[in-house]
Amino acid sequence: MSDRSLLILPGDGIGPEVMAEVRKVIAWYGDKRGLDFDVSEDLVGGAAYDAHGTPLTDATMDKAQEVDAVLLGAVGGPQYDDLDFGVKPERGLLRLRKEMDLFANLRPAQCFDALADFSSLKRDVVAGLDIVIVRELTSGIYFGEPRGIITENNERVGINTQRYTESEIERVARAAFDLAMKRGKKLCSMEKANVMESGILWREVVTEVGKDYPDVALSHMYADAGAMQLCRWPKQFDVIVTDNLFGDLLSDAAAMLTGSLGMLPSASLGLPMANGRPKAMYEPVHGSAPDIAGQGKANPIACVLSFAMALRYSFDEGAEADRLEQAVNQVLADGLRTADLLGEEGVEPVSTIQMGDAIVAALDASL
Ligand code: NAD
Repeated sequence: MSDRSLLILPGDGIGPEVMAEVRKVIAWYGDKRGLDFDVSEDLVGGAAYDAHGTPLTDATMDKAQEVDAVLLGAVGGPQYDDLDFGVKPERGLLRLRKEMDLFANLRPAQCFDALADFSSLKRDVVAGLDIVIVRELTSGIYFGEPRGIITENNERVGINTQRYTESEIERVARAAFDLAMKRGKKLCSMEKANVMESGILWREVVTEVGKDYPDVALSHMYADAGAMQLCRWPKQFDVIVTDNLFGDLLSDAAAMLTGSLGMLPSASLGLPMANGRPKAMYEPVHGSAPDIAGQGKANPIACVLSFAMALRYSFDEGAEADRLEQAVNQVLADGLRTADLLGEEGVEPVSTIQMGDAIVAALDASL
């Protein structure tokens, strides 16, 4: 019995196709590195609805609460578009995020050298880029009360409220500092303390938490200036922590510095469990891609890199995460491209399975 437990939820569309490649990688770590995982697999999204009439059963939810990490493929598809809101595939995903209380959303922006020309920015600005944005996910303006559209003086008024408690700021700040400790030990906190009281409190609390992390160099930046700096010279950052709204915008912009949707992993973290590991779910940013599902065209790299994040952030295996990212770098440097990464002349696309096999071969070559 391994002390590393993983729940795999492949989901719908290309989810099972990309997850099959990740399973090869997981098996490789067991065979070749002695890193055994206790893996269980279950249904989520449309697949769970088809089998059980619900996008996530209570039993699966309970399992997700018990394991060290959940690895999810993707959910959704046009055949589920007309279902009642409460049983739509996406509700399964939302229930996982909510009940596991995953308040810190990690979105890396990592640019593999071979793909630097895919970016809309100049090669030297993005080549070798490796940063992570930590977005607070469960509070802030998307949840604050009062909210709504009211009528005042004969016209309609739209209202949303930015609201953060000290403890909400503190826990996401700690998650970001912990992350910085596992990376380059640099954290930049972004808010708008110049015009927002919630920003003043954010800056104060993050500064206070920083006293527990003397090895991390903490800086603060107004979020608008941060957006500019992300486009001007993103390599100045290591980890960025910010609120729900700014994080929504900044993480999308940063992710796109690096190219294709098929390459982008993510993690959502909650509070530490009894064994010290944070509650965690890892998933590619992309959806179920019904337009290419079942055709062997999906790029498995986003899902493979999501597993690399699990190695780094749930299992403290930073060197093995580096090895996996390096294997991805190698296959790209060797010229392998799934259809979403085409652009260079004369390059024939490889299939999902070929890409997965090549990553495993590159892992073998790394030994
Ligand atoms: P999508 O991310 O599924 O696809 C957008 C485009 O990117 C498509 O052209 C697709 O072929 C391509 N693409 C996505 N992932 C790819 C990969 N790994 N390799 C190659 N190409 C890839 O977004 P969408 O089309 O807006 O949504 C499709 C379904 O997915 C919807 O039901 C939506 O609700 C759902 N969705 C789920 C998630 C999730 O599970 N986290 C996220 C977004 C969308």
